Amino acid sequence: MSWTTADSAELFRIDDWGKDLFEIGSNGHLVVKLDRESDAAVDLYEVVQGLEERGIRSPVTIGFPDLLRVRMRDLADAFANAISENGYGAGYTGVYPIKVNQQRFLVENVERLGRSTEFGFEVGSKPELLAIMAMTTNRPERLIVCNGFKEDRYVQQILLATKLGRKIVAVVENLDELDLMIATFAQAKARPRIGIRLKLESLGSGRWRHSTGEKAKFGLGVADVLDVVRRLGEAGMLDCLVLLHCHMGSQLSDIQVVNDGLGELTRVYVELCRLGAGLCYLDVGGGLGVDYDGSKTNSDFSINYDLQEYANTVIYRVKSGCDEGGVAHPTIVTEAGRALVSHYCVLVCNVLGVNRVDRLTISVEEARGILAARDEVPRALEEVLDALESVSPDRLVESFHDAAQARAEALTLFRVGLLDLETRGLVDRVFWTTCIKVNGLAHELEVVPEELQELDVRLSDTYFCNLSIFQSLPDAWAIDQVFPIMPIHRLDEEPERRATLVDITCDSDGRIDRFIDLEDIASTLPLHEIRNGEGYYLGIFLTGAYQETLGDLHNLFGDTNLVFVTVDEGGRWGIDEVVEGDTVSEVLSYLQYDPTALYQAIRRDCEESMRAGLLSVAEGRLVLEEYKQGLTGYTYLE
Ligand code: PLP
Repeated sequence: MSWTTADSAELFRIDDWGKDLFEIGSNGHLVVKLDRESDAAVDLYEVVQGLEERGIRSPVTIGFPDLLRVRMRDLADAFANAISENGYGAGYTGVYPIKVNQQRFLVENVERLGRSTEFGFEVGSKPELLAIMAMTTNRPERLIVCNGFKEDRYVQQILLATKLGRKIVAVVENLDELDLMIATFAQAKARPRIGIRLKLESLGSGRWRHSTGEKAKFGLGVADVLDVVRRLGEAGMLDCLVLLHCHMGSQLSDIQVVNDGLGELTRVYVELCRLGAGLCYLDVGGGLGVDYDGSKTNSDFSINYDLQEYANTVIYRVKSGCDEGGVAHPTIVTEAGRALVSHYCVLVCNVLGVNRVDRLTISVEEARGILAARDEVPRALEEVLDALESVSPDRLVESFHDAAQARAEALTLFRVGLLDLETRGLVDRVFWTTCIKVNGLAHELEVVPEELQELDVRLSDTYFCNLSIFQSLPDAWAIDQVFPIMPIHRLDEEPERRATLVDITCDSDGRIDRFIDLEDIASTLPLHEIRNGEGYYLGIFLTGAYQETLGDLHNLFGDTNLVFVTVDEGGRWGIDEVVEGDTVSEVLSYLQYDPTALYQAIRRDCEESMRAGLLSVAEGRLVLEEYKQGLTGYTYLE
C-alpha cells in the first residue's frame, strides 16, 4: 500500500500534540489552522517559499498571532465554563508573564487580543515593568502583577504606575521589600495594592517541582506571611493587601499536584480574610502545561489534563475552600505563560546536508577481491569478513559481537603501528556493513535483542540543520526538552531514513536526539532522503515559550529572522511584521567589536598585500567587498 498523509500524521503524532491547530494538507504540506470555527489556514511550506522569495532566509521563526488568539480564547472560555458550571461568585483574569517571551510584537498582540477579556500582565523586573507601563496607557482596567526582587527604584516605578492609574499589584517576595513599599507609599501619601507570594508546602511536580516547598527561591512561609499582616496592620495598610499568589512551578504535568496546592493556597486565603486583609484576588500562578509529546500523561513533557480540567479544578477547589471558610469568592488570576504562547511560534530550518553510515558499505565479493590481491591479510580483517559472512537470523548477536571484536582488535593494532590506515578503513567498512545487515534482520524478529537495540541510533543518518540549538532551542540542550519536529513538506511520501539532527555550532552538544514517538521518546527521527538541488525543511513546533529570547550567541550565531504571518479574508497569507535576524556586525558589536574598525584593519591589510605584490588591485577590491558583505550578512548559512 502506498504511503498517505494519514500515515505521516500518525507517525508524527500531529493530532496528539497539534491540538487541532496543525494538520497535513492533501499536497503533503504542513498546514497551520488559524481558527477552529472557520477554514482559515496557511500552507507552511508555501509561506517558507514565499519568505525565501522575499529574501527572508531560514532559519526563520514564524509567529501566527491567530494561534495566540485561539489559545487566549480557549483559556478564557475554559474559565468562563468552569465559573458558570460551578456557580462561582466572581470572575477570572488571565495575566501574561512576559518573561516567557518578551518580543514586542507578541506582547502587543496579547494586549490587543486581550482587550475584551481584560487580560493583564505579570512582570518580574524593571525593564519588563517599564515596557508594560507604556503598553497599557489608557487601559486602567488591565491588571499588572509585579513579581521579582524589588529595590528602591523598582518600588518607585510601581508607585509611579499607581499614580498613573495602573491597576498594579506589588507582590511581596521577602520582608525587606515590604518595609520599602510601606515607606515609599506612605511618604508619597499613596495607597499601594499589595500581594503576597506564598511558599506552598505542597510540592510541585516535574522539572520545576522545587518552585514550591520550604527551600523554594521565592515566596514567604506562613510565619512570614503573618509578619506581613502584622506590619501592614501597624502601617494602617491591611486593606491594601489585595492579592494572594503562589507559583507551583512550570509545566505542571499532574493535575493532582495542582489540586493539592490549591487546597493549601485557598486555606491561607480564607485565614488571611479572617485576619482582616482586603483580599479580592487569588493568583494561582503559572504552570499550566503543554502536551509537547502528545502522550497525555504526567511525563515531564506532557500533561495528564486539558485546559478545561485545569479550569474546573481551580474554580472548584477555590469555591469549596471559600464556601467552607465563609468568605466571598475571589477573582481568580492565572499567570499561564507556556500554555498561552508555545503554539503560536514555529521555527523552520533547512537541512544543509546528510552524513550516512551506509555510504561506507562494501560487498563480501569486493572485500574478498581486495584481500585476494594482498600478500598478507591481517587476522582482524579476516575475522570481520567472517563475521559479515556469518550473519543469519539465528546468530545475529554473535555475528555482531564477532565484528565488534575484530574492529576493536584492528584499532589496537593500528595504535601500535602494526596496521596501516587503509586496512583499518577496510575493517571499518566491513564492520558497518555487518551492522546494517544484522540490524535489518533484527527488525524482522518479534523482539529486537537488547544488545542490538542501539544499532538503530548508531546506524542513523546525521542531518545537518541550519540553526543553532543554543540560540533557538536552548531547552533542547539545557533540559533535554522534547519538541515536536517534522518535515513541513513531502508528507505524502514515506520518510525512509532515520536521523539525529545536529546544528551548525562547533559544539558537540548542538544535537537533537530525543524525539516524539508512537510509544516513548525515540532517539531518531524519520526523515526523507534529501533530493539534489531541492531544499528540505523541518518545522520545530511549540517553540513560542522560553526559547529564542532565552537563547545565547554560541559561535556568534544570532537571533533568527522573525516574521508574523496572518491571512486576509480571501485566505491569502501576508506578513504583518518582519524582525530581521542579527547581522554579523550586530553580533560582533554585542561583544564590543567595532565593525568599522574591523573593516579598516582589513583595508590596511589589503593595501599592504597589494604593495607587496601578493594581491592584484582587482583581488584586493574583491576581498574588501566580500568582507563588507560578510559583515552585513545573516549569521546563519545563506
Ligand atoms: N509566574 C511566575 C511567578 C513564574 O515564575 C513563571 C515561570 O516560571 C510563570 C508565571 C509562568 O509559568 P508557565 O510558563 O509555566 O505558565
